[in-house]
Amino acid sequence: MSVADAIDAPTQLLAGGRVVTPAGVLADGWVRLVGERIADVGAERPELEAPVVDLGGAWLLPGFVDLHMHGGGGHSVMDSLEAMQEAVAFHCSHGTTATLVSFVTAPEHDLVDQLGWAAELTRRGPTARGHVLGSHLEGPFLSARHCGAQNASFMVAPDLRLLERLRAVAGDTLRMVTIAPELDGALAMIEKLAGTGVIAAMGHSDATYEQALAGIRAGASHATHLFNAMRPLHHREPGLVGAALEAGIACELINDDRHVHPAVVRLVFDLIERPALVTDAIDATGVGDTRFELGGQEVQVRSGEARLVRTGSLAGSTLTMDQALRLAVKASGIGIARASAAASAIPARVLGRDQDLGSIAPGRRADLVVLDDDLRVSRVMCGGAWCGSP
Ligand SMILES: [Zn+2]
Repeated sequence: MSVADAIDAPTQLLAGGRVVTPAGVLADGWVRLVGERIADVGAERPELEAPVVDLGGAWLLPGFVDLHMHGGGGHSVMDSLEAMQEAVAFHCSHGTTATLVSFVTAPEHDLVDQLGWAAELTRRGPTARGHVLGSHLEGPFLSARHCGAQNASFMVAPDLRLLERLRAVAGDTLRMVTIAPELDGALAMIEKLAGTGVIAAMGHSDATYEQALAGIRAGASHATHLFNAMRPLHHREPGLVGAALEAGIACELINDDRHVHPAVVRLVFDLIERPALVTDAIDATGVGDTRFELGGQEVQVRSGEARLVRTGSLAGSTLTMDQALRLAVKASGIGIARASAAASAIPARVLGRDQDLGSIAPGRRADLVVLDDDLRVSRVMCGGAWCGSP
């Protein structure tokens, strides 16, 4: 924003909330916005002429940043550009003001289409219905032994030429690729990704501890849904889980009370600085009980739990970020400031966007979420404008 724009931009004061900032919770906090940005944050209401929005004691958190999302509200990001927009808008109504869009293993021509839609929406930038920060390829360079709900018949060994063809479509909007580090060619691909500014994530993997450490040495900096779809942590073979926790790389948690036990969530928060709450949400999120197709396989959703009909594997989640945060606080006893960081500042930092997004601090985008006493979303703000609620 230029200085002239800043002078003309409307000023708003949100006051009387429990404001969650990087420095802690301000019990009777206020936030002054100028246009799309946060200008000031403080305790004790200042004498300002800006119109005051009284938060009435509600929680005010930075908008959530989801690193792992496949769909929601009945829309899959893998179906069309319009469906991707609708899925992003659905999650925005649950407080996710910025998100990656994640694609599962699929034939190359499908991935090309999907990366193209994501590139288009990423280049459009923030909107009143959410903000696509780029794409995440969760496949096809994965282990068929830990395919989860993905279609193993389309999985391939890491292939730099295929990666280059996909990057030709996505350009710099491809932000993350999940790879099983034990596969032939994986370390070269991790090096290539990390060397060109793409987050190399490890997941859907049978890697041993040593193989995962080799991945980390090659540049892998992220674990895709830690514990799920990977060799479990064993005291004699700690696997990818042990290597990721020991190295302190960023670790995603699907905190829906099904994928990971609340006590394990607490342990991970105790062990590492950078736990990241993600949804791994599928299109059935927010829809109720239903049956649908995911990557060519049938999925049944019952009481919020999505499972492959054929194998019974958990097939992504029906989680929203507000629920992930609520469970972190209520089921795992994580303090709200820490849980908020795992839902916003940490994922923003993973993406290198933490100076722009993910915290209530001067200069950041005014992407905010208002939560009631029960930590349920009551209002969402995108870039200084209120944009909806569930
Ligand atoms: Zn996923």
